Amino acid sequence: MSLRLVAAGRCSMGTEFQVILPGEDRAFLEAAGNAALDRIEEIEARLSHYQSTSDISDINVRAAYEPVLVDPELFDLLKLALQVSRDSGGAFDPTIGSLVRCWGFFRGQGAMPDSEAVKEALQVTGAGLVLMDEEARTIRFTREGVKLQLGALGKGYAVDQAVEVLTRCGVRSGLIHGGASTIYALGAPPDEEFWEIGLKNPLRPSDRIGYIRLADQALSTSGDYEQFFEHEGRRYSHIIDPRSGYPSRGMSSAAVVAPSAALSDALSTALFVQGAGQVDELLRNYPGTSAVFIIEPPVGAEPIAVARGAVQFLPADPAGTAT
Ligand code: AMP
Ligand code: MG
Repeated sequence: MSLRLVAAGRCSMGTEFQVILPGEDRAFLEAAGNAALDRIEEIEARLSHYQSTSDISDINVRAAYEPVLVDPELFDLLKLALQVSRDSGGAFDPTIGSLVRCWGFFRGQGAMPDSEAVKEALQVTGAGLVLMDEEARTIRFTREGVKLQLGALGKGYAVDQAVEVLTRCGVRSGLIHGGASTIYALGAPPDEEFWEIGLKNPLRPSDRIGYIRLADQALSTSGDYEQFFEHEGRRYSHIIDPRSGYPSRGMSSAAVVAPSAALSDALSTALFVQGAGQVDELLRNYPGTSAVFIIEPPVGAEPIAVARGAVQFLPADPAGTAT
């Protein structure tokens, strides 16, 4: 019997979110899918740094001058962001907003800044500039100009929230993704053990370098091919190393499997910036996580995927893999 799928999609957070649900009861699945997408829109309204009325924009305007009371769920998400920042030695940083703007990736395709602008943005970058008061549930910045930007884990958080809505509706199987870079595999397809998700070849993103098997797990991929500009023959991607202020180099893509999409999203960005040397050390802090990464291949060479941890990775071409 062929698999019947009901799909619902909507644009949010600058990407298309999709809910794909197998089953026969079309009306029920469509209603559940739309309820999940409604939830994603609510999350965007809270997290988006593009919307002046969002909680994040409110924090960015006020937190240098007074402690700002934060909604409990957003407080937990910010704590996760700061924890990943600490565990990655600052490679992941939720205060990346000024650097993203400086490199022209705020509503733009990116452009080379002058080095003074990078230095200035670095002054207001650093998780250490953010103070969170657990008891009062408030956040405060120690300096003017700090800009929170949750682009590296917001999509994942929205996917998790959509999964929660689906689960509450009684849905047990489905795929929920934001722009295909963060995906949650709920259960497995009927009569199967896993969902199989393709991993893009960073040199030719329409090709797959392999497949990852997932069941009740999230997968996020950070790639230099997602958003970048070229300057004097070099590629500058939207993922910035907050320690240098310059776009991160070395990785072509980093994919992380985790129990939640907020975590896989944050860790894939962290791993992309931190590089191959620290993968095991980073993942050790987070039970149930594993990774597949691809180091920037030399010019003319094919990319090689490296798997770490318990990830079920099936290479499209077994010759192009290492463990
Ligand atoms: P992702 O595609 O999940 O890796 O997220 C990349 C996005 O996160 C970028 O477009 C920026 O908005 C933001 N970002 C860039 N560099 C960092 C970083 N080092 N830490 C946290 N967020 C970042
Ligand atoms: Mg991410």
